[in-house]
Amino acid sequence: TVSYQRYDPVKYRTPRGTQLTCKGWIQEAALRMLLNNLDPEVAERPDELIVYGGRGKAARNFEALDNIIRLLKGLESDETLLIQSGKPVGVLRTHPDAPRVLLSNSQLVPKWADWQHFDELEKKGLMMYGQMTAGSWIYIGSQGIVQGTYETYAAAAAKHFKGSLRGTLNVTAGLGGMGGAQPLAITMNEGVALIAEVEEWRIDKRLETRYLDRKMMDIDSAIDLALAARTRGEPLSIGVHCNAVHLLERLLERNCIPDTLTDQTSAHDPLIGYWPHELSYEQATVLRRENPQQYIDYAYRSMRRHVECMLELQSRGAITFDYGNNLRARAKEQGLANAFDFPGFVPAYIRPLFCEGKGPFRWAALSGDPADIAVTDEVVSRLFPDNVSLQRWLKLAKEKIAFQGLPARICWLGQGEREKAGLAFNELVRTGAVKAPIVIGRDHLDTGSVASPNRETEAMLDGSDAVADWPLLNALVNTAGGASWVSLHHGGGVGMGYSIHAGMVIVADGTPAAAARLGRVLRNDPGMGVIRHADAGYEVARDTARRHGLDLGERLK
Ligand code: NAD
Repeated sequence: TVSYQRYDPVKYRTPRGTQLTCKGWIQEAALRMLLNNLDPEVAERPDELIVYGGRGKAARNFEALDNIIRLLKGLESDETLLIQSGKPVGVLRTHPDAPRVLLSNSQLVPKWADWQHFDELEKKGLMMYGQMTAGSWIYIGSQGIVQGTYETYAAAAAKHFKGSLRGTLNVTAGLGGMGGAQPLAITMNEGVALIAEVEEWRIDKRLETRYLDRKMMDIDSAIDLALAARTRGEPLSIGVHCNAVHLLERLLERNCIPDTLTDQTSAHDPLIGYWPHELSYEQATVLRRENPQQYIDYAYRSMRRHVECMLELQSRGAITFDYGNNLRARAKEQGLANAFDFPGFVPAYIRPLFCEGKGPFRWAALSGDPADIAVTDEVVSRLFPDNVSLQRWLKLAKEKIAFQGLPARICWLGQGEREKAGLAFNELVRTGAVKAPIVIGRDHLDTGSVASPNRETEAMLDGSDAVADWPLLNALVNTAGGASWVSLHHGGGVGMGYSIHAGMVIVADGTPAAAARLGRVLRNDPGMGVIRHADAGYEVARDTARRHGLDLGERLK
């Protein structure tokens, strides 16, 4: 049994079942999802309130957490709780259709928006890093990213390997909260995954949840095993206990060229998220605490070397892409001029999906009963019989995904599909086909909710990569539409100064009022993405808007 120093698993256990502990289902959903984010099955480091993504937290400190819980329990259905970087700062009278919680995390005025200034504020207890779904209470464990990662590798397979990764070697690093989805996403696409990870407990955690097949302690043996599986055409995932740089250097020495190559270490956070290759784990742990600046210098040098190795493997034939952790920018800051010579995964594989309003739609069963998710799986499968990749995903997810915390499901759905699913779930609640309300949300990595020039908005057709009006409009429109909670974050995914993004969550509680809110929010939220991409000149987005009757302002002309 694990012992916790500060996180109390009894006190903070997520309520389940149909008994309310708050004054309404929306407040109850916010409470359950906050506590679910911190559930040790879900969170990476509950003792530090860290959910995933380096230091992405759900609440600023334990005092703030206790206060949020107390306030949610007393919150009326016409009030709104305000959260400023993980701390509750006020309750205001609004109205029943307004969000019950509004959150803003890690926002800094642009000129001050860097890690150095953030670290000073965090040390003074004035700020918290919310990453994406950590600080907006809709993280559902590694499953949340599995489908996105699966879709990315499926797109890579379609583009380069005739639709399957069978007989290919796919090298990457990082088995953290998000990176832990990589082995499963690769084997679901029938490939071999070879993944470097510095912290042994992370490898063990992925083995326990069946995301990973094998743990290896020695680099050469891991490479040999991976090559043999590739030759046999057998899907296999291997976590190797080493630094990413050491794995890549060895691959270069042996001239073993991966078929695909990427990375999901937490390079967005050089101090807390990335382990430098020149230090042992023990040395790094001490240095991080005692001389953070020197640690950061080591991390930057290491990230430069990391990208150099990736570029060298790319030049020898590996299909190489950045997986949204800002590694290339770190290497460039360290003087590597051609760090951006391999593309980001969004322009390479995901943007066409964004143009159709597709993104990481997800939901959780507040009852805590896996049977409720089985019912929703059934409904989604029936609603979209012609969506082949969705059907394949649902089948694989049922077989392979172990739930973490509250049972949940993710499915990339597009414009039109999301509102259909949301309204169908509301009916399931109304008719008692599921035991309790269903909470619906999404990642901030979505079509209309993020400005992040090195990731989601890299290489936009019209050069509007850094325009951040879109996520702000997204948060405003979801508030106006009546989402259950709405959040606006800075720095998620790629670090301070590099992104602005918004989240939304909406509860299907079976009432007509919820149906009206669901209809608005689940149409407008992806609709913002379609509008954003249409405005940037993507023909597919214009076509999607036309097909779904989204008004691109034509009536003004
Ligand atoms: P995390 O902090 O939970 O895990 C990062 C892991 O990387 C840790 O296990 C750490 O030990 C390991 N690591 C760090 N440096 C290493 C090194 N040099 N060699 C080997 N292992 C090393 O973070 P996460 O939630 O898994 O996210 C990882 C990164 O991926 C973040 O930067 C995140 O923003 C990005 N990300 C991308 C996407 C996407 O869809 N593209 C989605 C989510 C996250």
